[in-house]
Order: sequence, then C-alpha cells, then structure tokens
Amino acid sequence: MLPKKHFGQNFLTSIPARIAIVKAGDIVTTDTILEIGPGKGFLTQELLTTGAHIIALEKDVELLPLLKEMFSHYKNFTLVEGDALTYIPPKKYKIIANIPYYITGAILSHYLSCAYQPETMVVLVQKEVAERVVDTKESILSLSVKAYGTPKIVYRVNKGSFNPAPSVDSAVLKIENISRNNFINQNHETTFFKIIKQGFAHKRKYLLSNLRELFPKSTLETLFEELFISSKARAEEIPLSIWLLLSQKLTTGAT
Ligand code: SAM
Repeated sequence: MLPKKHFGQNFLTSIPARIAIVKAGDIVTTDTILEIGPGKGFLTQELLTTGAHIIALEKDVELLPLLKEMFSHYKNFTLVEGDALTYIPPKKYKIIANIPYYITGAILSHYLSCAYQPETMVVLVQKEVAERVVDTKESILSLSVKAYGTPKIVYRVNKGSFNPAPSVDSAVLKIENISRNNFINQNHETTFFKIIKQGFAHKRKYLLSNLRELFPKSTLETLFEELFISSKARAEEIPLSIWLLLSQKLTTGAT
C-alpha cells in the first residue's frame, strides 16, 4: 500500500528516533498513551514494550487490518478508528506520536485546550514549527502552547529518517506541566486568545493600534501604562506573563 500524502503519511524508519521519542515520554506501566496516527505501527511497536496502555487512533481505515494483525494479541493495545481532531480523550493520558504534519497546529490546540488535557505531549513535528513554539520571539503559535505548558525540543530528526522522506527536517517537541492554571476562569482564557489573535493581526502595526479594533483607546492606554508596555511595542515582543495580565484585566474590566 502506497503512503498517502493527504493523510501526512511519513513513516518513521529510524529506530534511534523511535527510541528517543518513547524515552522522552517518561512512561510508566500505569500510563495511558494516546498515539495519534500509528500508521504501519513503527512507533506503536516501541510504545507497547513499555507495558503502558496504548490507544492507537488512526484515521486511514486501510491501515487498520495491518495494525490489528500486528498488535491485537497485546493486552495493552486498543485500536481506535477515528479523527484526532474530534476524538474525545480519556481523563488521564499522555500523547506520544509522530503526528500528521498537515494538522500540527490543530492537534496542539485541540488537545491543549480540551476539557481533558494530556499530562504531557511528546510529538514529532516539522523542525521549523518546533523552533517557533519554543522561540522567545512570540507568535500566536508559541503563546497558545506556552499558555498551557512548558515546551522544549528534546531531539532532532533528519528527513532521511522517514519513508517517504518529507521535504524538511523534524524535531521532537515535549510539552510538560500542562494545565489551565494560567487562567483565572473561562472568560480569561477566551479573552487571552481574542487579544493574541487581534494583537498579531497586522504585523506592521504596533500592538496598541491592533488592539484598538477591540477596546477603547483610553482603556488600553491606562493598562499599557500600568503593565509598563510601550505604546510602540509589537505583539511579538510581549512575553506570555504580560499577555496573561493584560487579558485578565481586560476580562475583569479593571483599569
Ligand atoms: N506513527 C507512524 C510512524 O511514526 O511511522 C505514522 C506517522 S504519519 C506521520 C501520520 C499518521 O497519522 C498516518 O498514519 C496517518 O494516516 C494518520 N492520520 C492522518 N490524519 C489523521 C487524523 N486526522 N486523525 C488520526 N490519524 C491521522
């Protein structure tokens, strides 16, 4: 069966890379691991040896018979046919996966912001994406991840480690300490995403003028002064802590 490009099928042939991904998950036998896109089972095989319960969630129905044949004799293996973007996860789990690159952003945002967040995520993603997530020059992507957890790059994987080889290198991104503790309530979380989206809307504009499309100028000027944000600051220069304070104050209306 030929790999399907539209499903982002780049199978991980490198054994050292598979071992590095599993090791980064700090797996214990009582863990439940959600593997998004088991594909032909290359990483699944490695995950199963840990003794943890592995839920393998695959969208491509044509891969299911192969996965059943390979792993149905394992007591700690559950195969689920489904879409990672609509799947409702269990209450306590870790995500460890070589995810389909075409939906990297959507997977990160779906699981980090869902009702049952994973304890940890270890995901193989495009190198540029991993670097953007951990960058101190902020973006909507980096802030949306850092708001919920602590990301770091733990391993680099070159494009020759896959079949077929993708056009770019990859990296293993580990996100730890996942919670919504940075938000005082749901409104704060909603306002945070509203202002980062608007703050980065026009790249050449100052943050203040971007946000003026949502809030009165006087409110913003007072808050900028209070939080020591320059009126000439650009969105990418503002660290997470300030975005959190700004969104909290804009939520509660305290000026
Ligand atoms: N884990 C395998 C490996 O490392 O060799 C395959 C990884 S491949 C990059 C991505 C896998 O995700 C493919 O098996 C693909 O069919 C599956 N996939 C694509 N879109 C998906 C979705 N929305 N939900 C679940 N799985 C998906």
